[in-house]
Amino acid sequence: MTDSWLERTGQGWKIKIFWLLIGATALLLLGAIVSANGVELPLGMTGLALLVPVGGFSALLWLCAGVVCKTCGAHPAWEIIKGATAGSWWIQIESLSACPKCGD
Ligand SMILES: [Zn+2]
Repeated sequence: MTDSWLERTGQGWKIKIFWLLIGATALLLLGAIVSANGVELPLGMTGLALLVPVGGFSALLWLCAGVVCKTCGAHPAWEIIKGATAGSWWIQIESLSACPKCGD
């Protein structure tokens, strides 16, 4: 893990923020489900359910825009998400050993 491109370029914390956002989104989804079963929650079921895609989108946007190559200015996370199949892109991002564009 320590020789990954993200860690080497000091961007490992960005992945942690991404997972925090995903975790928060999962909690919103859970809240919406609980609320749908008649439990009173702030925002209500509709409010919580509407925030789920917003949360998921924010997390992806954060990762795509936040992970930047300081050498060439590329956005490797965005390049990977565009080209990878669902379910494997985050592994590819975390296991990057060099910038896919400039090889730094
Ligand atoms: Zn680069």
